[in-house]
Amino acid sequence: MDKSAIDPHIERILLSNSEIISRVKEIAAQVSGDYRGKQLTIVTVLKGSVFFAADLLRFLTIDRDIDFVCTSSYIGANSVSKVQLVADLSSNPKGKNILLVEDIADTGLTLNYLRDNLKERGAASVAVCVLLDKPAARKVAVEIAYRGFTIEDFFVVGYGLDYEEKFRELPYIGVLKQSVYNNK
Ligand code: 5GP
Repeated sequence: MDKSAIDPHIERILLSNSEIISRVKEIAAQVSGDYRGKQLTIVTVLKGSVFFAADLLRFLTIDRDIDFVCTSSYIGANSVSKVQLVADLSSNPKGKNILLVEDIADTGLTLNYLRDNLKERGAASVAVCVLLDKPAARKVAVEIAYRGFTIEDFFVVGYGLDYEEKFRELPYIGVLKQSVYNNK
């Protein structure tokens, strides 16, 4: 990529847009094969996963629909991180085959919470699909059925991922310069 096209807050590009898109196409082909003949509901975790979910939806070749959830985390009793739902699905998940689409699995708490929540509400199946997996940061185990890329424990932005609501629009995924959060 032309160096001048790189945002000055980005240390380096980890994944170019073409690398991301070709991997999304591969995942879409895999998911389409696994769910052939079934209706699939893509549950997108707002906001970071919207670019990934939109591209995935475009490349799937099976019957599919899309819905959205939004979570936030807070520190609960005993300083344990907890996840809560701040915006729920627009329709009941009961009986649906759900693909939970998340930008990144970090501690794993968000995906674990959502998976349990959807199962408790009677989803027929819940499988997890992440674009990025940061296994080094994991606090709770999470079963990932579809994974785009495994990355090291860097703070990354772009292709939907933000830092304080910025950088989501970058077409690539890049490592944010430490000076951006150190100079706050
Ligand atoms: P988890 O519950 O797995 O710790 O949280 C996952 C969420 O943390 C992601 O959806 C994302 O919002 C945020 N997150 C974790 N790592 C990163 C990162 O490297 N960059 C950005 N922008 N967000 C991250």
